[in-house]
Amino acid sequence: MHRLSFALLAAAALLSVSQAQNETDVESTIQFLFPSYCCTVLTNSSVSQQVTYPGQSAYNASLASYFDGKSRLTPNCIVQPQSSEEVSHVVKLLTAASLPEPCQFAVRSGGHTPIPGANNVDDGVTIDLLYMNGTTYNADTKVASISPAARWGSVYQTLEPLGRMVAGGRGSTVGVGGFLLGGGISHYAPRVGLSCDNVVNFQVVLADGRIANANKETNSDLFTALKGGNSNFGIVTRYDMETFESEDLWGGIVTYPASTADQHFKALVNFGLDPNRDPNAALIVFQGYSTVSPTDVVRAAFDYTKPVVRPDAYKEFFAVTNNISDTTKIQPMSAVAAEFGSDTTKRVQFRTVSFKIDLDTLQETARLYKIMLTELQAKASGQWRVSCLHQVWATSYTANSTARGGNVLGMERYTENFIMYQSYLSWSEAKDDDLFINLGLALTDGIQKFAASKGTDVEYLYLNYADKDQDPLSAYGADKVKFMKDVAKKYDPSGVYQTLLPGGFKISKV
Ligand SMILES: Cc1cc2nc3c(=O)[nH]c(=O)nc-3n(C[C@H](O)[C@H](O)[C@H](O)COP(=O)(O)OP(=O)(O)OC[C@H]3O[C@@H](n4cnc5c(N)ncnc54)[C@H](O)[C@@H]3O)c2cc1C
Repeated sequence: MHRLSFALLAAAALLSVSQAQNETDVESTIQFLFPSYCCTVLTNSSVSQQVTYPGQSAYNASLASYFDGKSRLTPNCIVQPQSSEEVSHVVKLLTAASLPEPCQFAVRSGGHTPIPGANNVDDGVTIDLLYMNGTTYNADTKVASISPAARWGSVYQTLEPLGRMVAGGRGSTVGVGGFLLGGGISHYAPRVGLSCDNVVNFQVVLADGRIANANKETNSDLFTALKGGNSNFGIVTRYDMETFESEDLWGGIVTYPASTADQHFKALVNFGLDPNRDPNAALIVFQGYSTVSPTDVVRAAFDYTKPVVRPDAYKEFFAVTNNISDTTKIQPMSAVAAEFGSDTTKRVQFRTVSFKIDLDTLQETARLYKIMLTELQAKASGQWRVSCLHQVWATSYTANSTARGGNVLGMERYTENFIMYQSYLSWSEAKDDDLFINLGLALTDGIQKFAASKGTDVEYLYLNYADKDQDPLSAYGADKVKFMKDVAKKYDPSGVYQTLLPGGFKISKV
């Protein structure tokens, strides 16, 4: 660099740093004036307009839009590509052999996973797919093409006027990208299977920057591995999904006093084990408490995928009386999703455990939940909320998967439906992080230990609800682990998506 320009730059840096109001400002100023070479190569390329630095409004907006406050790490810069070609270009730049060292990066779509480091990175580059968020529909093939950072609410709003629907997320704000790579449970799952099995083609940017398609005919091993395999194989830039006729649903949330938990669990056992279960009937039974409405409650979220009021499928639940509130009605999927949608600036922990449909184990979840709640009521500060969800994981998902090329979740192992349990804790105060994180861990560990002692444990862990220390990839089974390792090696022989993209659940660590 010319000596005068360097002197001017140095003077500007000193001036800016001296004017900075606080430590964060100083850090932002230094990063802006002396960006990492990984950011510099992006800034000097054709995607320069899409690169944003600490202190800039696009950077701040990107961080603010993470669902979990703990996940707002501080990358050296954020790049927001607008097409698969630009994603490919970014991958090539960040992995170029000419760099002093290859660059660490993270990928985010909706930013809803509450695991710090899964979708963002300190001291690296975050690829934020924000602008790749459209949905188009092909009337000839009946396939919807959805970009990764679309939110499910926008997908439904595009498809409903065309009379079509896809099996997507239950909440309007949840991102498409991560959801479909972890499996995806929709209200339509009992009818059409897991959401990932409704994908007919993934467009993927591979480790060497090639843009490939993965479907039943082309790169079919990659197609299977992406259905549950998280960010191990590439950056998905388009998801082509089967659609079906859009119809209004009947559903909503009915809230009852906590004293009805046992009645709900008994009804859940019969519902979950019913061999003739109505495939239109989706259900979540959950226990919940919130400082905003401080009553310990049980909720039943009914979602029937036909416009039928109070269908027979739920009759045992309807026999539970004394509800506190009831939001059920007939409405389109976009309205159902808006009711489930939630934006948060809070801190969040998800954990999961699976077990057989067994009344004793369900009752044990309630006992352990009560212990956790009592501790939180005594010790937690600020605003907080806990929800512990019981959902039926159905063997019918397997049939819906195998016919369409399979996935890696290892569901063929199960001949009986089981319960997939999710604890969902959210709180406002960073000083309470350890309290919530440790109590959440004690809850799912306690359930796991009880189930193991009673022989009701189930190995499977749902990746989209798993916490950082859990190992959902191993829980798919040894054969699936081997398969994913082989696929990762074939499509990414130098291990870019294992070492340079450290976030998410990594097959190389299993
Ligand atoms: C309020 C709320 C409601 C939810 N409801 C449901 C539900 O109804 N059903 C359900 O199954 N799950 C649900 N989830 C869980 C949800 O599926 C996961 O959090 C999912 O990861 C969200 O997707 P995302 O695009 O927002 O993920 P991100 O947080 O953006 O990414 C998640 C992971 O996937 C990777 N990734 C993201 N996009 C790509 C891509 N294009 N290519 C490669 N890797 C990528 C990221 O690197 C990261 O590791 C819910 C979560 C929340 C917070």
